[in-house]
Formats: sequence, C-alpha cells, structure tokens
Amino acid sequence: MMGQIEMGDPTKNPATGFVFAADLGGTHLRSATVDEAGQIHFRLKHDTPRADSALEIVRSLVLAARECATQTTAQVGRTCDFKAISVVVPGTVNVEKGSVVTAPNLPCLDGFPLTAALTDELRRPAILENDANAAAVGEMWRGAGRGHSTIVCVTLGTGVGGGIILDGKLWRGVDGAAGEIGHMGVDPFGGVACGCGSRGCLEVYASATAIVRMTREASPRYPDSILRIGGGLTAEKIYEAGVAGDELALEVFRRMGVYLGIGLANLINIINPEMIVIGGGVANGWDLFEKYMHQQVAERAFPLLAARVKIVRAECGDDAGLLGAAKLGFAQVV
Ligand SMILES: [Zn+2]
Repeated sequence: MMGQIEMGDPTKNPATGFVFAADLGGTHLRSATVDEAGQIHFRLKHDTPRADSALEIVRSLVLAARECATQTTAQVGRTCDFKAISVVVPGTVNVEKGSVVTAPNLPCLDGFPLTAALTDELRRPAILENDANAAAVGEMWRGAGRGHSTIVCVTLGTGVGGGIILDGKLWRGVDGAAGEIGHMGVDPFGGVACGCGSRGCLEVYASATAIVRMTREASPRYPDSILRIGGGLTAEKIYEAGVAGDELALEVFRRMGVYLGIGLANLINIINPEMIVIGGGVANGWDLFEKYMHQQVAERAFPLLAARVKIVRAECGDDAGLLGAAKLGFAQVV
C-alpha cells in the first residue's frame, strides 16, 4: 500500500516527468499528459468503447497513451516518456492487483487485470484507482483542498461518490471500497430504493438522477411550474428554473440540500475533517441548496466540529479525477 501522499507546493517542484492519466467513465474516456507540477499538457476525450469488451477498452487506453505521448513530445520539444500509466474507473478496484472488482457501468472489466494488460502493451508501471478517490486526491493537490491534509470530497454526479483523505493518506479501507458516501443512509424510515440494494441512501436524494426523479414526483403539487416533465428533463434545466424562481425546482433543491446536510453532519462527527469539498455537476446548484445543507450541519454536527470545517465547492471541475490519477501515478513511481 502507498503511504503518505506528499502534496507540498507543486510550483516549487520542477516538471521533470509525465504521467499518462485516464478517467474511464461510463460515457467518456478522458485522458491527458500531466507533469509533476500538475500541469495538463495535452488532453483527449473519446466515447468509452462498447462496454462488453475489456480488450477494446485496453486498446483505446493504449492508443490514447500513444497519442498523448506523440503530441506532448511535439509540444515540449523533448521525448515524452511516461513514468506511469494511471487509470481511474467508476467502481470498486483492487489497488494491489490492479484489477476492477465491480464497475456497474463497465461490467466487462469486472475481475479484469487492467494494469497488467496496460503494462504489457506500454511497458510502463500502471495503477488503477476509484474515480471519486482520485478526485479527492486531485482536489487536495491542485484544487480547493490545497494546504489541507484531512478532507472529505463528495462528488454529486449521476450518482454520489466520495473520497476520504486522512492525515494526507487516501483512506481505501480493507477492501478498497471506503468512502462510499453516496450510500450512507439518510432516510431511516423506508426511503427510496437505491441501485446498491439498500434504501434511503444519500445518492437517491442528492445525485443528478435524484434531482430529476424528485422533480417528477413533486410536479403534481406544482401545476404552475415552468418545468416540462418530459423525457428531456435534466438537473441543469431544473437548476435554471430554480434560478428563475420556479417553486417546484426550489423545493427539489431544498430537499436535496437537507439530505446532503444530514449526510455531511454524520461525516463531520465521525471524521472531524478540516474541509469538505463538494464537486460534480449538481454542485452547480450550490446557491439553491447551500442554505439548507448548512442548516442541517448546524443542527446536527457537534458545534466545535461544525464551526471548524470548511464546506466548499470543488475547483478542478472535470479534471479532478485526471489530476488525482496523475498524482497517484507519481506517488507510485517516485
Ligand atoms: Zn445505495
């Protein structure tokens, strides 16, 4: 297992090497050349290959790595020789074996030895990490968490992911599955069924999917809403309606903020973090849910802990996972 992740000040470290970082999502494969200062030199975005062939995914990663190396070499005027290949996936990974345990959106990778396949092709050390864990590392390295060592990162996307860094060390748990903040129970009485098999998880109230579902559910009570409850409804459209004062949208973000605040209060009391960083697309609705989130934290968390913790928006956007992957890649080989 890797020890402490040395964060330091990246601007004081000369950029002496590169890592190929890839964020393999259910929809897109994003990849980049990243240097030791956290600068992205070249990036690519492709559709994720069809999800039934692990070898097809390996091929896409290998082609992307070669393209990034070629383009970076041309750009920086010296040979781009990757120190490591670092891939993050939306699922549980076995870091030691470099294999995916389970990735619901990429089922062909379940049990597949991905890092061994990449090392075979590219002749470089390869590592694998969960995407939300990597995002937490990315935010601590180059984003909102700079200068802190005990942070929790919550990613509000299609689902809700989480990453926990304690005293500068990514906390993976004994099975590599720690930090599943989206599956913390926040509704003890019944609750909505969650994809994980449980009910009332934070994910079914605070993800983009949840925002859309809650809007549909509440719409009969808001006949004057400007929102059209059709197939094209998105969390972004609901947010825009909320900004325009739509009562249905405001109620949905209020509920989302309440549930998120309950979850954060639990995290604060258990972990006593310096900072909670909130990222993902739904974090764009910050001004609509922030007040309700803070209210729950104030009511539920221990006052000393609640007063100290900073709850802030993420700063790395879609690059958090790539940057975290790169940082973990450098930590592996340095
Ligand atoms: Zn769940």
